[in-house]
Amino acid sequence: MDKPAAENAAEQSDVIVAGAGPAGLSLAGALAGCGLKVTVVERQGEAALADPAFDGREIALTHPSIDELGRLGAWQFIDEGDVSALAHAHVMNGRSPALLQFDPPAGMPVTGAAGSALGALVPNHVIRRALYRAVAGLPGVRLLTGRSVASVEGSGDAATAHLDDGSVLVSRLVVAADTRFSKLREQQGIKTEITRYPSTILVCRLAHEADHGHVATEWFRYGETMALLPVNGRITSIVLTVKPDEAERLKGLEESAFEAEMARRLGGKLGAVKLASTRHTYPLVTTFARHFAAPRFLLAGDAAVGMHPMTAHGFNLGLSAARILGSVMTTALAKGEDIGAPPVLKRYENRLRLEAAPLYGATRLIAALYTNDSAPARVARHAVLRLGQVLSPVRGAVSATLMGRSPLDGLAPPVPGPLKRLLPR
Ligand SMILES: Cc1cc2nc3c(=O)[nH]c(=O)nc-3n(C[C@H](O)[C@H](O)[C@H](O)COP(=O)(O)OP(=O)(O)OC[C@H]3O[C@@H](n4cnc5c(N)ncnc54)[C@H](O)[C@@H]3O)c2cc1C
Repeated sequence: MDKPAAENAAEQSDVIVAGAGPAGLSLAGALAGCGLKVTVVERQGEAALADPAFDGREIALTHPSIDELGRLGAWQFIDEGDVSALAHAHVMNGRSPALLQFDPPAGMPVTGAAGSALGALVPNHVIRRALYRAVAGLPGVRLLTGRSVASVEGSGDAATAHLDDGSVLVSRLVVAADTRFSKLREQQGIKTEITRYPSTILVCRLAHEADHGHVATEWFRYGETMALLPVNGRITSIVLTVKPDEAERLKGLEESAFEAEMARRLGGKLGAVKLASTRHTYPLVTTFARHFAAPRFLLAGDAAVGMHPMTAHGFNLGLSAARILGSVMTTALAKGEDIGAPPVLKRYENRLRLEAAPLYGATRLIAALYTNDSAPARVARHAVLRLGQVLSPVRGAVSATLMGRSPLDGLAPPVPGPLKRLLPR
C-alpha cells in the first residue's frame, strides 16, 4: 500500500488539482509547463479517463482555445475528422423570418478549424482523451485515480488534502476543478450564485439528408430552444432544452418514434433524419462563485463558473483559467514568490473574473430574454433580431460573446453603467 504522501516530503507536490475533467487536466498541463509538480486526484477510474465514452456534448471551441490546446500538447491528439468547422451562425425566433446571421468574411474557406470563422466543434470525449494523453504522462504530473478529495485545509505555508481512502497530501496550493456542484467550494464557505432553470438539456446526433453547410443555428421556439450544431458529414448535433418530463419522455422513446418527433420539430429543415448516437440529458443549472480564491485554495473550470450552454463557453473558460494560472505562476516563480500567497491568488482571481464576468452576464441576459415566452419578451427578442441585423453594436456584442471575447469588446460606445451593474462581480 502507498504510504500517505504527508509522511514523505519527497512525495509532496507543489499543487494538488481536485478533478481530472477537461478543466482539471488543462490546469495540470499548464502548471507542469511552469515547472511545478502537480498531483491530480480524480474520482473516476483510469480507464474512464484514458478512453472516455461519448457523452453527447459537442464542444464549440474558440480560436484562442484551439491555440491553448495546442500549447498543452493536446490538439495533436485530435484527429482532423473529429474537428467540424463552425462557419456560420444563425439565431432564429419561433416562426419569425427575422434572423441574426454571422457569416465568415468573403473568400474564407469553410472546412478545417483554422479556416472557420467562429471556431470548431469537437466532441467532449475526444477532447478529454486528448488531454489525458497529453498530460497524464508528463514528468511533473502524478495522477491518482479512483479516489476523491474529501476535504482541504489551507493555513500557514501549506495546503492539506484529505482523500476518501484516508491518505493525506500536502502541497502549497489546492485547485478545485470538481464540477459546478463543487463540494470543496462549499466546504471553503465560498458563496455561489446558483440558478436552477426548470429545464433539462437533451443532446444527441442525427444523421440527415440535407447539407447543413456548417451553419450552427440557435432556434428559440415557444416553450423550448433547439441548437443545431453541424458535425462533419451529414450529421447534426441536436441540443434541445425542454421541461424535465419532456426530456425524459424523448430520451425513452423508441428510435423511430424519436426520429419522427425530431423531424416534426425541425419542420423539414434537414430532410429525413435518423438517430446517430446515444441520447444524453443534463439538468440546466448555472453557477458563479463569488470568490475564486480562499487560503491556499483556488477554483477553476465549472467549479468557478458554470456557464449556461447557450453561448457554449464553459470549457473555453476552463482553458482561460489554465492559461491565466500558468501565466500568474510563471511570474510568481520568476519573482521568487510563494505560489500560494494571497497576492498571487488574487492576481489569478482578478484576471479570471475580468474574462468570465462579462461572458456570464451577457449569456444570462440572452438566456433571460430568449427563454421567457411572455408576449412582451417574444416581441422584444423579435426586435433584437431585427435590430441586431442592422445595428453593428448589437451584432458586435453577440458576435464577441460567440467568439469567447468579452461582449463589451463588441460594444461601441462603451457599455453603460446600469448594464454593467447587471454583470456579476
Ligand atoms: C450539453 C452541454 C453542452 C456544452 N457545450 C459546450 C460548448 O460548446 N463549449 C464549451 O466551452 N463548453 C460547453 N459545455 C460546458 C463544458 O462541458 C464544461 O464547462 C466542462 O466539461 C467543465 O469541465 P470541468 O473539468 O470543470 O468539470 P467536469 O467535466 O464536471 O469534471 C469534473 C471532474 O471532477 C471529478 N471530481 C468531482 N469531485 C471530485 C473530488 N472531490 N475529488 C476528485 N475528483 C472529483 C469528476 O469525477 C469529474 O471527472 C457544455 C456543457 C453541456 C452540459
